[in-house]
Amino acid sequence: MDYYLPTRLVSGEGAVRRSGGLIAAFGKRCLIVTGGSAAKRCGALGDITAVLTEKGIEYSIFDSVKPNPDIESCVRGGRLAHEFGAEFIIGVGGGSPMDASKVIALSAANPELDSVGLYSMNWPNAPLPIVLVGTTAGTGSELTPVAVITNTDGRKKSFRAESLYASLSIGDARYTASMPLSVTASTGVDALCHCVESYFSKKANDISRAFAMRGVSLLLSPLSNVAAGNLPTAREREDLYNASLLGGMAISVTGTIMPHNLGYFLTENYGVPHGFACAQFLPTLLEHAWSCDNDRCDALFSSCGTNLQELKSLVLSLTPKLDVHLSAGEIETLLPRWENNNAIKNTIGNVDTAQIRDILTGMFG
Ligand code: NAP
Ligand code: ZN
Repeated sequence: MDYYLPTRLVSGEGAVRRSGGLIAAFGKRCLIVTGGSAAKRCGALGDITAVLTEKGIEYSIFDSVKPNPDIESCVRGGRLAHEFGAEFIIGVGGGSPMDASKVIALSAANPELDSVGLYSMNWPNAPLPIVLVGTTAGTGSELTPVAVITNTDGRKKSFRAESLYASLSIGDARYTASMPLSVTASTGVDALCHCVESYFSKKANDISRAFAMRGVSLLLSPLSNVAAGNLPTAREREDLYNASLLGGMAISVTGTIMPHNLGYFLTENYGVPHGFACAQFLPTLLEHAWSCDNDRCDALFSSCGTNLQELKSLVLSLTPKLDVHLSAGEIETLLPRWENNNAIKNTIGNVDTAQIRDILTGMFG
């Protein structure tokens, strides 16, 4: 087995205020990377700036990260960080600002690289140190070496490198309290996809499976309540957030598999939120896994107190039915993106182009 996680995690109530000393060790100037408003409304940004002021750390704020961040905005953020003389980057928000902050840290350390140079994965300098503060309970980006960024062609393309692990991640589930029900459902079902996909990856090992199984156990009860239309209690928010971290640790080992890879086109072409896009294909993965390996499935279901039908029903009740219709020609145009694709190859059993054609035709044809 091979397991690597170089990120220091501090979590629980008041985690940001407790992390002042750790943050101060990264330097005297930083760029805060965040989205339009959520980090301000949920209190995370205020907590961070209070700690920076107390420690005498100067900061500038780049708050124009949009959901599914694009590479050009990361280059802009990198230039700003470089001109400001930032010694480290703090990403505050959901997966989008956290992922953008990773690439901004890279761009700031390599200001001569444009978007093509950044995507070359061949960087003269290591990224600046990265500090992350999560405000959604979904991506687990706090603990992954991945940044999912939209390239200039409109396609999502991941950066994955050990140097993109955050040096410090700070988690306080209270920041997720401001999420409306739909964001809670979409991010929660994303965490569920991470855990289930990781579990059924050909790259899974005993460590990643332990994270994935515990993540699914923590998610089932709060997500059932969300599916019934209830916002999570404080205790449930804690469980959702911890499960998202466990999902992040699981996919750090395995990456994601079929549902995530099939889901990207729904976000790119139809604006479907990330979690809902991937979860469209989770019931199909569960059926497929069941047909490949009953015992592997039963080990997951029994450890979490669920079964195939129950888990499928939960996913279906959390995920909106999409108004997406694809002609046979449109499906053929999409198919090449999944040929020779590692995430598809790493899916339990065998998934080929003919099966993907059938899946898309059955769902959207
Ligand atoms: P997100 O795109 O960061 O945010 C979605 C929406 O939720 C935004 O409008 C955001 O507002 C809002 N929001 C964030 N925190 C909130 C809060 N506490 N209260 C109310 N609203 C809040 O959502 P996400 O699902 O966390 O991240 C999705 C992205 O992460 C995708 O690009 C996906 O591909 C990527 N991802 C990365 C990994 C990884 O390993 N790195 C894994 C899975 C997915 P603002 O715009 O104001 O911030
Ligand atoms: Zn995801």
